[in-house]
Amino acid sequence: MTKRMGIIGYPLGHTLSPAFQGAALRHLGIDATFESWPTAPESLAEKVASFRAGDVLGACVTLPHKQAVIPMLDSVHDTAKSIGAVNWIVNKGGKLTGHNTDAPGFLRSIQEEAKFDPRGANAVVFGAGGAARAVIYALRTAGVARLTIANRTLEKAQELASAMSERRFKPLAISLSREDLTDAVPYATLLVNTTSMGMAGGPAPDASPVTADLISADALGYDAVYAPLETPFLREVEIAGGRTASGITMLIYQGAEGFELCTGQKAPIKVMMNALMKARAGRK
Ligand code: NAP
Repeated sequence: MTKRMGIIGYPLGHTLSPAFQGAALRHLGIDATFESWPTAPESLAEKVASFRAGDVLGACVTLPHKQAVIPMLDSVHDTAKSIGAVNWIVNKGGKLTGHNTDAPGFLRSIQEEAKFDPRGANAVVFGAGGAARAVIYALRTAGVARLTIANRTLEKAQELASAMSERRFKPLAISLSREDLTDAVPYATLLVNTTSMGMAGGPAPDASPVTADLISADALGYDAVYAPLETPFLREVEIAGGRTASGITMLIYQGAEGFELCTGQKAPIKVMMNALMKARAGRK
C-alpha cells in the first residue's frame, strides 16, 4: 500500500515542503507521497483523526495549528511540551505523537551551516511568537549566557521571558523602541529575527527590527524568515560588517528530522536542499 505524508496549515499556498519532502521519498525509493493538505481550523480535529489510518506515516504542522493540535494527540514529546508547540505528528499503529523539530532544526542550522557555537553567547531574539519559542528553547539548551527578547508588543516578550525562565536562565524582555534596543543589541554576538518583518507577502516585507548602526561587526545575524533569502534584517547586519545566515537551512533540518521520525530512514539533506532551491527558482 502506498503510504502518505503531508503538511497541514491554513492557508498553505506558500509551502515548499512537498517539493523537498517528495524528492527525499523518491530518492530513497520509499513508496509514499507527500501532499499539501490545506486545513481550515474548523476541519482540524477531523483531519488530525484521519492521520490514524494505516496508510498515513505522519504530517508536518504549520501556522496556525501548531498549538491547536496538541489536545488531539495521544502523546507529546518532551521538547514539544516545553516549547508548547507541535510541528510534526507521527502515526505509529494508530497512535499519534507530537514532536517539535523547529528547535533542533534551528540549532543544527546555526551550528553546522553558520559555524556558530551559542554556548556563552550574548543573544538578542527579535519576536515573541511560535518561532521565537522554539529558538529560545534551543538557545537555552545550548547554553547561551544572556538572552534578550525584543518584541513589538512588550507584554508578549515579558510573558515569553517568564515562560522560558529557569534557575540559571532569565531572559530579559524589551520593546523594539530604539532606546530599548540601544541597551542590548550592540553587545550581542548573536541576533535572531523571528518576527514576520521582512517576509515576502507578510505584514512588513521591507522592514527590519533593527538598524545597522546598533549592530556589532562581531555579530552573527540569523533570520528565521527564509523568503526572500536576503531579508532587510540581514542587509542591516551586512552593512554593520557582521556575518549572516538564512533560515532556509532551519526549514530543511526541521523537515529532515520530521522525515526521519515518520519514515525511520536517514534524510538525504543535499537532495532536499537541491529540490527546495529548484522549487524556489521555479516560483520566481
Ligand atoms: P507568529 O507566531 O505569528 O509571530 C509573529 C511575530 O512577528 C510576533 O513576535 C509579532 O509581534 C511579530 N510581528 C508581526 N508583524 C510585525 C510588524 N509589522 N512589526 C513588528 N513585529 C511584527 O509567527 P511565527 O510562527 O513565530 O513565524 C515568524 C516568522 O518565522 C515567519 O516569517 C515564519 O515563516 C518564520 N519561520 C521560519 C521557520 C524556519 O524553518 N526557517 C520556522 C518557523 C517560522 P507581536 O507580538 O507584536 O504581534
